[in-house]
Amino acid sequence: MEFGWSEPERNYRARLRAFLAENLPEDWWSEYARRGPSAPKVMAFARGFNAKMVETGLLTRHWPRQYGGEDAPPWEHLILSEEMWSIGEPRSCAYMATNFIGPAIMAYGTPEQKAYHLGRIAAGDVYWCQGFSEPSAGSDLASLRTTATAADGGYLINGSKIWTSYAHSADYCMLLARTEGATRDGITVFLLDMRSKGVTVRPIPGMAGEQDFHEIFLDDVWAPSEARLGEEGSGWAIVRTALHGERVGAARHEAAARAVAHAVTYLKACGRFDEPVVKTRAVEALAATEAARLLVYDVFDRRAKNLPPTADTSIARVAMMLSDKAAANFIFEFAPEAVCLDGDPKLFTQVMKALASGVAAGASEIQLNLIARDHLHLPSGA
Ligand SMILES: Cc1cc2nc3c(=O)[nH]c(=O)nc-3n(C[C@H](O)[C@H](O)[C@H](O)COP(=O)(O)OP(=O)(O)OC[C@H]3O[C@@H](n4cnc5c(N)ncnc54)[C@H](O)[C@@H]3O)c2cc1C
Repeated sequence: MEFGWSEPERNYRARLRAFLAENLPEDWWSEYARRGPSAPKVMAFARGFNAKMVETGLLTRHWPRQYGGEDAPPWEHLILSEEMWSIGEPRSCAYMATNFIGPAIMAYGTPEQKAYHLGRIAAGDVYWCQGFSEPSAGSDLASLRTTATAADGGYLINGSKIWTSYAHSADYCMLLARTEGATRDGITVFLLDMRSKGVTVRPIPGMAGEQDFHEIFLDDVWAPSEARLGEEGSGWAIVRTALHGERVGAARHEAAARAVAHAVTYLKACGRFDEPVVKTRAVEALAATEAARLLVYDVFDRRAKNLPPTADTSIARVAMMLSDKAAANFIFEFAPEAVCLDGDPKLFTQVMKALASGVAAGASEIQLNLIARDHLHLPSGA
């Protein structure tokens, strides 16, 4: 088995790094990245950055040619994620649209939805958010209570969403609402225009990143039938596929590995890398990032072979979460002074990211439940 990168893949990574070196401002880490990809300053920057990515054909290379991509293999998608996430995600929320919202529209959209939405995502001029979680439906997503009731030529949507990242600047929301019953079979996906009358967005202050969380209130929001993605009641299947894309979409293993390497450089510069315990802990943290890397690569290997996603996605996600925490704990234990607002922005960012990584995109306990059921085939409900 060959674990190395091919020459075209190495060239592609070098091209991305050159692009980043040319297009990120000198104070990128201290003034932008440390605030998180949802910070208004980063979101404003990303509009211009994404336009340049489009100009150079880098934003959606991994998409099919017919939808504005270049049919690049999944490995290039992974390289793109590694380079972007580990530098603080200068695309801001555009990574969600190119990773899993766009592909969901490719798989389930009407020709009109594909023409309209995919064209705009590939053009880099639209922001999306993801309206799944509700106050009483986070881990137990199937119990969501936002309703979409048939009304003249469309639906009236009522309810609320919580923890929605990027909602303050989003143009559209991939929204889950209940069109019937109380089970997962009654859930439907809507491609909701966030400018619709009756949509209110309120920020929730949090530690994970500047303006990261929001509530969305939906009061008699009218959505035309054309905004429904797939059939009524098909939402659960769509979401399951989308979550497979989301859970390995942010290359946390690479960011954690680079943060540990940076911490080692930092500690050496301060003359604090000589003690064996520091070296041992650095190696342990790096080992966690490498384990996560191989498990993520396994998921992409299945994609490259056109195999359907499995519980391997959850295994990789848990490994990434553990690598995030191992890197953050190493930094926090040996370079605590760097983890403050005017400390080292790369080390600060890693610790902030690790705070949320065991909750975002489905809590780690939920990933473990999925592994128990779908990988180990253990009985449930015992
Ligand atoms: C940084 C970040 C960004 C986010 N962005 C978005 C977004 O853009 N859109 C969106 O829709 N949501 C978003 N979320 C919300 C996220 O998906 C939820 O927080 C997550 O699904 C957990 O739901 P909850 O917060 O309601 O916790 P709960 O479901 O109340 O869970 C609380 C605790 O109980 C545990 N638990 C619950 N059920 C079980 C079980 N069956 N077995 C074992 N343990 C269990 C959980 O693991 C967790 O530790 C984001 C979250 C974070 C941290």
